[in-house]
Amino acid sequence: MFSVVIPAYNEEKCLYEHIKEICKYMNKYDYELILVDDGSKDKTWEIISQLHEENSSIRGIRFSRNFGKEYALCAGVAEVKGDAVIIMDSDLQHPPEYIDSMIEKWKEGYQIVDCIKEVRGKESLKNRISANLFYGILHKFTGYNLKNGGDFKLLDKKVVDEINNLKESQVFFRGLVEWVGFRKCQISYQMKEREGDTSKFNMKSLFKLAMTAITSFSSSLLYLTILLAIIFLVLAIVLGIQTIVNKIIGHALTGFTTVILLQLLIGACVLGCLGIIGIYIAKIYDEVKGRPRYIISEKTPLGK
Ligand code: UDP
Ligand code: MG
Repeated sequence: MFSVVIPAYNEEKCLYEHIKEICKYMNKYDYELILVDDGSKDKTWEIISQLHEENSSIRGIRFSRNFGKEYALCAGVAEVKGDAVIIMDSDLQHPPEYIDSMIEKWKEGYQIVDCIKEVRGKESLKNRISANLFYGILHKFTGYNLKNGGDFKLLDKKVVDEINNLKESQVFFRGLVEWVGFRKCQISYQMKEREGDTSKFNMKSLFKLAMTAITSFSSSLLYLTILLAIIFLVLAIVLGIQTIVNKIIGHALTGFTTVILLQLLIGACVLGCLGIIGIYIAKIYDEVKGRPRYIISEKTPLGK
């Protein structure tokens, strides 16, 4: 059986037609479709209930408020029963025509099929710049290159089980999929324009997502203090030597040498200590996330 997980937030305008369209592509398979209503304020839930009445393969989950797409995806994949799970948006920007080729790839033995945008639809300059900036920074800090990737994916049951086992509460779903590993392949697709409505993300929610993404997958920001401390120490040594030389050759004003040296000493000490604390906090942060130390994808059968 295949599962499809779709998050929906205030999608009353086109949800019904879009889900019907997606079902057309799923009908030839044994499938379930899980719609997660991320605390919509419009009629999204009523539409989901109606879809469920008409087709028992469609199920709905409703959040008590808007928790965000990442959490809607988590809630969806926690409920699935299928051997493979397809994740897609409700706005048809992830074209269901690609479902067949995703399933083909899964049958070939790939456990994660990642759909990569060929061209980023007709996007505004602002969106393009912010997306490039976001993925650029993420790549620099975490080493994950998620550019042009999205949440249009197929995940094997094994991958989903591992993701469900991760207990951290701040989630960047794409990052987790990257983190768990497994056999991956990519297919590219043409992203369509959003029909009817505008994006459900605003600058604030995107910034929050970017922060979660960077801080969940890298402690580099905490290590910055140690870098600053080292730079400051080198500068302090140079300036310190110059101050002492000035004092010896009699160019210094009375009392100034002590003040400068004290400032440098205290500054270097404070930054150095902050850096050390930063390293420990980074370690504590990694422990608190409680991720498994490793994930095994296969084992040879036990010998006699
Ligand atoms: N979405 C959600 N919760 C949110 C924002 C968006 O579940 O807080 C859903 C939305 O209904 C859609 C998908 O996430 O199915 C992608 O959203 P959208 O198309 O607005 O984003 P974009 O295409 O701009 O990435
Ligand atoms: Mg969209």
